[in-house]
Amino acid sequence: MSARAGIVVTGTEVLTGRVQDRNGPWIADRLLELGVELAHITICGDRPGDIAAALRFLAGEGTDLIVTSGGLGPTADDMTVEVVAHFCGRELVLDDVLEEKIAAILKRLRARFTDVDFDAVRAANRKQAMVPAGAQILDPVGTAPGVMVAGKPTVLVLPGPPRELQPMWHTAVQMPGLQEAIAGRTEYRQDMVRMFGLPESGLAETLREAQGQIDGFDRLEITTCLRRGELEIVTRYEPDAAPVYAELLRVLREHHARQIFSEDGSLVDDQVAALLTGRRIATAESCTAGLVAARLTDIPGSSGYVAGGVVAYANEAKSGMLDVDAELIETHGAVSEPVAEAMARGALRRFDADTAVATTGIAGPGGGTKDKPVGTVCFSVLLADGPTLTRTLLLPGNRSDVRERSTTVAMHLLRRALLGAKDPAALRD
Ligand code: ATP
Ligand code: MG
Repeated sequence: MSARAGIVVTGTEVLTGRVQDRNGPWIADRLLELGVELAHITICGDRPGDIAAALRFLAGEGTDLIVTSGGLGPTADDMTVEVVAHFCGRELVLDDVLEEKIAAILKRLRARFTDVDFDAVRAANRKQAMVPAGAQILDPVGTAPGVMVAGKPTVLVLPGPPRELQPMWHTAVQMPGLQEAIAGRTEYRQDMVRMFGLPESGLAETLREAQGQIDGFDRLEITTCLRRGELEIVTRYEPDAAPVYAELLRVLREHHARQIFSEDGSLVDDQVAALLTGRRIATAESCTAGLVAARLTDIPGSSGYVAGGVVAYANEAKSGMLDVDAELIETHGAVSEPVAEAMARGALRRFDADTAVATTGIAGPGGGTKDKPVGTVCFSVLLADGPTLTRTLLLPGNRSDVRERSTTVAMHLLRRALLGAKDPAALRD
């Protein structure tokens, strides 16, 4: 059986949601890379009893390694080391060498904080030099050292600030004690298929079918998740189950050739970026308020092909900035396919671009009508040298859901049009 791990995230600020947990997911990724099975991430406040309970729970679940995050500071509410020492049945002892190291760090910091009583600071930090007897020490990146107590389970204690935790994790992974704890790890492969335009239920149906068809299907650990309007299918398997995965891929292709857009982990953004090479794109946005432009410019290297964009909400802005005929708006309404197309044309001209994408819709909460309820969004992608694709969709959710989905739809429509410019077969529905 593979090595199993648990993560204990501590900190009242994380428990209450004031600070979003970045350490649990980050360590989870590292464990995955190592082939260590992560059983649980628990989050608790800065209460010793709760931290101890989390440790007991994870140990009870048969973990080989527990990683804790947070609570290593000099103040009285930082008690993770003390709790871990008790949990592992070790005394807390003062480590002289470590105390000197911390003192040296503090001397450097002192230059910056002239009005602090240095003796008090040093006394408080003496606490940070108290470690479980026999523990291995991880040198501080900030002022808080980490510790690792070998055993069943081995416990690795890391500080809360991500910029301290991350380098210290990399150091810890090299240590023999940690390597021993995860010796039972299994090497896994992980592959991802991304789809667009398929509901989760449709995929569930295909997977049920695949289960009946494919020998060794149970050797694949498949997780599906709906993210930003795309369906991600992540499959983990041991290397010798590669032929089983190949079979799964064959079945997915057979059923969903049109919806699969990535089999190598690439994002639609990466693909659009590659397709835009040598082109010049402009955006015209209403309901998405510039988010399509933001998404395009988030792609590394995008300064090469993003010319600019217009955010136009008022009808006068659509006419004034994008030359949309006022009568067209009057006749069809601001949220309509003709207006989306006219906006794209206007952006193309304004920015002297060869590619344009436009959105106009009702992201809510007010503003919906019977014909055009909240969530109605019209998209148009216009290529100077290729097809114009225009669509109207009804997207679910609140304002931010509708906007986020809209940017994803815009990216996919753009991908489609750019592929279509190269090969018209890509445009077939
Ligand atoms: P310090 O010496 O800074 O007090 P510490 O180990 O005691 O180190 P915490 O007090 O738990 O760390 O957290 C310090 C700060 O680090 C938090 O206020 C928060 O900004 C950040 N932080 C802590 N835990 C997390 C986490 N899980 N995800 C993201 N940020 C975190
Ligand atoms: Mg702290």
